[in-house]
Amino acid sequence: MTAKIIDGKAVSQEIKEEVKVLTEKLNREHGITPGLAFILVGDNPASQVYVKNKAKACESLGFYSLTEKMPEDTSEEKVLAKIDEFNQDDRIHGILVQMPLPKQISEYGIIEAIHPSKDVDGLHPFNIGLFSAAKAWDEIMEKRLLLPCTPYGMMVLLEKYGIEVTGKRAVVVGRSNLGGKPTAMLLLSKNATVTIAHSRTANLAAVCREADILVAVIGKPLFIKKEFIKPGAAVLDVGINRTDGGLVGDVDFEAAKEVAGWITPVPGGVGAMTISMLMKNTYMAAEKTVTEASSKSQIPSSKQEANLKHKNDKPFDLEERAMLFAQSVIGFLKVLPNTTANAEISRQLIRSSGAVGANYIEANDCLGKKDFVMRLKIARKEAKESRYWLRLLECSKTEDAARTELVEESTELLKILSAMIQKAQ
Ligand code: NAP
Repeated sequence: MTAKIIDGKAVSQEIKEEVKVLTEKLNREHGITPGLAFILVGDNPASQVYVKNKAKACESLGFYSLTEKMPEDTSEEKVLAKIDEFNQDDRIHGILVQMPLPKQISEYGIIEAIHPSKDVDGLHPFNIGLFSAAKAWDEIMEKRLLLPCTPYGMMVLLEKYGIEVTGKRAVVVGRSNLGGKPTAMLLLSKNATVTIAHSRTANLAAVCREADILVAVIGKPLFIKKEFIKPGAAVLDVGINRTDGGLVGDVDFEAAKEVAGWITPVPGGVGAMTISMLMKNTYMAAEKTVTEASSKSQIPSSKQEANLKHKNDKPFDLEERAMLFAQSVIGFLKVLPNTTANAEISRQLIRSSGAVGANYIEANDCLGKKDFVMRLKIARKEAKESRYWLRLLECSKTEDAARTELVEESTELLKILSAMIQKAQ
């Protein structure tokens, strides 16, 4: 048997063309251009090429993009400050910090600092939690969750080639947070029975031979041999290994294609999908800001907040803003479907919007400019979070009976804010 070759390059091109058309529409109808910011620390030649290619893809799709280059010895604090700047910037919908990072910088700390709504690499623990908690692939798609680009690309390849996943045995070799684990969770969401294998797995070849879908995410050239493959299986090779003979995958392609039913080449297979899925995620992050804006017209935007000035410079009324903010949140909660799924997110929303109001009020009370700026900074951070919770709530559709409690809680919030305002007067 000779396997069908899965052409990642062609599918990737298709995705880019779809994203280009959607981007033009978003721009025409809402005046929004998806924006992607890259942070590149150090001189790693491979990282420079990756960022350059991603920036080129942005240009070809009509995205706004910028690359912040930082020297090898940059401190973690400096990178975090840059991320914070991009988190606040409304032109930027996605932030990508190119890995690997120099050893003085913690990759986890960096990933966690990116606002989940701008985490277009899909690596923030919050986003990983969201898709891992989703019951099924359809729910993931319906909520337009930000998925890690390479595993997402792999799922798209399976779909485009009509490879059945439901009820099939899938074996993923590799358990890294970037590769194996998210790949396994996505296959599970499509109803595969999934085994995750790793360096301590006993009888690896036999385990792999059970797979209808075999995914290699290992980082060892040509490691998966013909004997590991069940005849007719779909073999997806995520590995990218530089050897003297050029780029090769984790699968011994030439031998494996004689047994497999489908197989991805390296290069031109799964790896070719990563950039287009990054572009798709960035488009989705930008497009979500439209829904967000339409349901929260009362909630001040970052730009409006940024325009607030200290009372020594110009009179203003932050108390009124705090009330408006709370009222708009309550208004939103009243029309929200009654759902258990919504309850926890709504509580977070109430907490963060309460903190926005309280900090606005305290900012108004501040005599010193330093305290005022600090209060406003906290209020803006919380407002950003509120917007995110709201966005999550918009994604939710299921029903149950948590609404009364939520409205009571938000009414309580309004009372507290009113009391604070009276005290301040
Ligand atoms: P990683 O963090 O080094 O993880 C490798 C995984 O493979 C580990 O879970 C390890 O098991 C397992 N493994 C190593 N030796 C093994 C063996 N002899 N038998 C069974 N399992 C073994 O690497 P990664 O980040 O996941 O990347 C893996 C490969 O995918 C690399 O070639 C990388 O370049 C490629 N990749 C490509 C893309 C893309 O196309 N854009 C994206 C991501 C990754 P233990 O946990 O037990 O050590």
